[in-house]
Amino acid sequence: MIKKTVSCFLLLLPTLLWANISVTIDSTPGGIAQITFESKQINPKAFYGNVPLYVQSLDENKYQALIGLPLMTKPGSKRITIQGNEGGYAFIEVVNQNYPDEYFETSVNVSDNQDSSSVRIKTEKALFAKTRKTFSKQPLSKGYFVSPTNGRLTSVFGVNRYYNGEKGLPHIGLDIANTLGAPVNASASGRVILVYDFYYLGKTVFIDHGQGLLSSYSHLSEVNVIEGQTLRKAQELGKIGTTGRSTGPHLHWGVFLNQVAINPELLLL
Ligand SMILES: [Zn+2]
Repeated sequence: MIKKTVSCFLLLLPTLLWANISVTIDSTPGGIAQITFESKQINPKAFYGNVPLYVQSLDENKYQALIGLPLMTKPGSKRITIQGNEGGYAFIEVVNQNYPDEYFETSVNVSDNQDSSSVRIKTEKALFAKTRKTFSKQPLSKGYFVSPTNGRLTSVFGVNRYYNGEKGLPHIGLDIANTLGAPVNASASGRVILVYDFYYLGKTVFIDHGQGLLSSYSHLSEVNVIEGQTLRKAQELGKIGTTGRSTGPHLHWGVFLNQVAINPELLLL
C-alpha cells in the first residue's frame, strides 16, 4: 500500500527531492560525503563506523546517505555500512583540505583549565557530547538552510587557531558578527533540544533537524525559545550577544551531522 502511494507521487513529480534536505557535497575533512544505493527495504539504514547516517529517498528503491566527515579524518578510502543492501557496504574517498591559520595574542593562558571553572567545563563537555549524539528517526526539515543572521563573516569553519603561538582547537563553526540584540533565526525547521549557558559558548540553543542533523547558535544575549519547542525555518530563537568566551557581539553557528561538526556553509544555497 505504501509502495503504491510512492509510485503515484513519482508520476506526479519528477523526483521526491522536494521532501529532502539539500547540501553541497564536499568529500574533505569537515565536509559532507555521499553515497547512493539501492534497497528494497523501507527506511534502510547506513552507518559510518557504528554511527547512524542521514538517509533520504531519491527515487523508488534508491537512497542517498550523507556522511559528515570529522576534521581529523585522514584522506583515503572509508567504508560505509548499508543495511538491506546486497553488498552490505560501500566506499567513499576522502580528499585533503588545507584550512587557513589564525593567530591570536592573548593575556589569558588558554591551556590552563586548573581553575574553579574546570569542573564546570568538564560537565559541559559531557553535555555537549551527549547532545551531539541526538538521532531522531524522522527528518524534521527540508531544502536548503538559511543563514541564521545577517552580518559580517569574521571566522570560517576549520581554521587552525594559534594562541600566543600555541596551537589550540580548530574552529568548528562559522562566526557572524552583528550588532548586539540583532535577531538570530533557526537555519531550518526542527525541534529545540537544548537551551544552556556554556562557559565557552555562552547562551546556546541546539536544534534537531532529524536523522542526526543538528545546528547550534552560541554567544546569544537572549534566548526566546524553550526545549521541546518546534521551530519553522527562519523563526527567531534569540538575539546576538557576546556571552561565554567571546571578544565581541557575534553568532557562533555550528552544524553537526552523524555527531560530527561540519562546515555550515555546505547547507546554504
Ligand atoms: Zn566561533
